[in-house]
Amino acid sequence: MTGHIIDLRSDTVTRPTQGMRDAMMAAQVGDDVWGDDPTVNSLQATVAERSGKEAALFLPSGTQSNLAALMAHCERGDEYIVGQLAHTYKCEGGGAAVLGSIVPQPIENEADGTLLLHKVASAIKHHGPGLGAHYARTRLLALEDTFNGQVLPAGYVAEATAQARERGLATHLDGARICNAAVARGETLAQACEPFDSVSICFSKGLGAPVGSVLVGPRAFIERAHRWRKVLGGGMRQAGFLAGACLYALDRHFDRLAQDHANAEHLAKGLGEIAQVTVKGQGTNMVFVQFPEQECVPLQEYLAERGMLARVTLTTRLVTHLDVTTADMDTFVRAVKQYFNLRERISV
Ligand SMILES: *Cc1c(COP(=O)(O)O)cnc(C)c1O
Repeated sequence: MTGHIIDLRSDTVTRPTQGMRDAMMAAQVGDDVWGDDPTVNSLQATVAERSGKEAALFLPSGTQSNLAALMAHCERGDEYIVGQLAHTYKCEGGGAAVLGSIVPQPIENEADGTLLLHKVASAIKHHGPGLGAHYARTRLLALEDTFNGQVLPAGYVAEATAQARERGLATHLDGARICNAAVARGETLAQACEPFDSVSICFSKGLGAPVGSVLVGPRAFIERAHRWRKVLGGGMRQAGFLAGACLYALDRHFDRLAQDHANAEHLAKGLGEIAQVTVKGQGTNMVFVQFPEQECVPLQEYLAERGMLARVTLTTRLVTHLDVTTADMDTFVRAVKQYFNLRERISV
């Protein structure tokens, strides 16, 4: 395969643009473990301000950012309530339990990514007089937005976090794609982060930076997370080269997420017109499609031979990002159409 690859496997596949590379090379750096890296400090100050929180912390990955957040909210033997399908619970190696001694209390996710409020309420353990020793102490509600590309309903976020607060729980958002959610709702980053005590934001997804996440929250919380980052091996030295990419991404790649959403919509529309394809859903920068089961392997190969990458499974997730264009969506749809035309001709 040579030339332009249309890679729809994930929005993590983006490569830094020339402008971003220039910003990285020009970044002022220092030893961030000593607190000396001016670009990391600038990124942390900027993201804290944009998200409307007191403080921010730069970490190497979203997984570490979520874990440091959980460990800063909960102590050994505390419990957090989380979606059964949440990345934090399902896709991070069970880190909260393994490394944090935090008990997960998973609740099944509804199709829209929400956790029903009455299910959350009834999972909260009471530890009043006479009950204290029996249960893990429920400390935290963790939500995820976007969830499979879907934006959580704004009213739901307000209700769920209000209920958590009333019951004395802290709230954390796995906001790996919170920038997509904010752009889709027409909100600022601060508005999207406002309902939560802490938010973890990925810069290596739609924002297009090569590495990095930023955790935001109250100052004392960020100080605890900073210590856990060190314990988890996330203290980096001249990290300003990476922070420079993130600052660049925040300034140049936030508003343009709307283009990724439009491209996903365009892709869903195009694929929806193909008889053999069922579009199961589209939200922000993701499209979920179903292909006939026996076609998955050969279709994936057919596309790969033509420079188009997708993990074609029973329910295929296609993700748009900085490195694909509207024209690429048309190319992709055309290839899928051609594939099925060819199959029809062979089978008659
Ligand atoms: C990508 C992602 C993360 C963090 O993943 P890393 O690969 O560790 O940066 C967390 N939550 C969600 C929902 C994600 O998509």
